[in-house]
Amino acid sequence: MESDKIRLQFLGATGYVTGSRTLIETNQFRVYVDAGLYQGPKYIEEKNYKTLESDPKTINAIFLTHAHIDHSGLIPLLVKKGFTGKIFCTPSTYDLLEILLLDAGRLQDEEFRFLSKKKIVEYRLNEALYNEDDARNSLQYFETVPFDTKFTFKGITASFHWNGHILGAACVKLEINQKSFLFSGDIGPKNTVLHKSRNKPPGADYIIMESTYGDRKHDDDDFYKKMIEAVMLIVRKKGILLIPAFAVGRTQLILYVLYRLLQDDKIPHLPIFIDSPMATKATRVYLKYPEEIAAIVIKDKFFEFINSKNIHLIEDVIGSKRLNFFNGPAIIISASGMCSGGRIVHHIFNRIWDRRNTMLFVGYQAEGTLGRKLVRGSARIKLFNRELPVRASIKSIDAFSAHADQTGLIEWLGDSCRNQTPENVFIIHGEEESRHELKHVIKFIDDEKIILPRTEEVFYI
Ligand SMILES: [Zn+2]
Repeated sequence: MESDKIRLQFLGATGYVTGSRTLIETNQFRVYVDAGLYQGPKYIEEKNYKTLESDPKTINAIFLTHAHIDHSGLIPLLVKKGFTGKIFCTPSTYDLLEILLLDAGRLQDEEFRFLSKKKIVEYRLNEALYNEDDARNSLQYFETVPFDTKFTFKGITASFHWNGHILGAACVKLEINQKSFLFSGDIGPKNTVLHKSRNKPPGADYIIMESTYGDRKHDDDDFYKKMIEAVMLIVRKKGILLIPAFAVGRTQLILYVLYRLLQDDKIPHLPIFIDSPMATKATRVYLKYPEEIAAIVIKDKFFEFINSKNIHLIEDVIGSKRLNFFNGPAIIISASGMCSGGRIVHHIFNRIWDRRNTMLFVGYQAEGTLGRKLVRGSARIKLFNRELPVRASIKSIDAFSAHADQTGLIEWLGDSCRNQTPENVFIIHGEEESRHELKHVIKFIDDEKIILPRTEEVFYI
């Protein structure tokens, strides 16, 4: 390796939105920024099972932008394969990871058992990628650092900066040998609903940024209107409104939207159940970090609402089963967000054939999931070996994303460039079309300075 150069290698999320991982290497250290799992269709998830490019024992540290599994979910595997370095993240990211990584371990184990039972040998694997014990074991390597606080590790000066994506989410700036690098992580929208809006990111010589919605613009206007329609429909029919939602971020956002509508007398008071142990735990983490929540949400006394008798946080299985006998109108929010597992599947089994009920989808439904099938308008579904007619109303709202849209991404980059023009901008974490389009619309940086790295591509700086 050229002696005084910094080696930057893109190991994931190049042309995809998952598997975020970048290696930075000098003669003194080897560190990752993010260590995410690939998620989605089988051909993408298979990448997780390929041998790691570098021996985890040789990695000195991981700088983690946020808790989402596509940025953090490789950590238990690295630890299982011998990683004993430090993992730096913000305190709230760590609190969420205690929940998310253990769950990821359980899911990996379950999936492996399922595939083995069915004798599906596509992955040619003798054991699960990792399990809950591996995940728990990895927690000992974490070290938390508050936002906007510089710290050093092996000559690297690093700092996390609030990015408004989910609780704890940061962009991370690394200063190495008089060169600076800014990794965007996932960028929140400028006008967030639940979280505090992002801060202006610092400048840097090299910017590595996401491009999830590099080719799209959000339209959030009809979220409240559609939510009112869905609630009023089950009020009239005395049915149940089933909302599948991710445990971290999405569930809390839906709760806040419902709260606003109640405050404004747009919907009547009715029981709201959060039937997901993970969402319940994540909601408690939210209550611990009011400084990362929008001031208006705190002023609105939203946290008091979550702690009030209006909201039923259900953790045990008995409580969940009891909901099967509950007569509407009521709202049940449960995970997983794409109905690919979890308690929501049981609620669908119990409610989907009844015309009084409504299912409301509030997020992206990936190809191959039950959620996608329902959104597409399937007349019948098969669950637990029973065929069920879909008689409940199916509605979906695609709004209030946790990601900045094209305009938001350009604004974020513009904010970082306000005092310093970067040498290069590397665009990652987006489908090919999306990152090409983003490159095309960035007008204030020369075209040849904007790079779309390929998987495993190396740059010497
Ligand atoms: Zn994310």
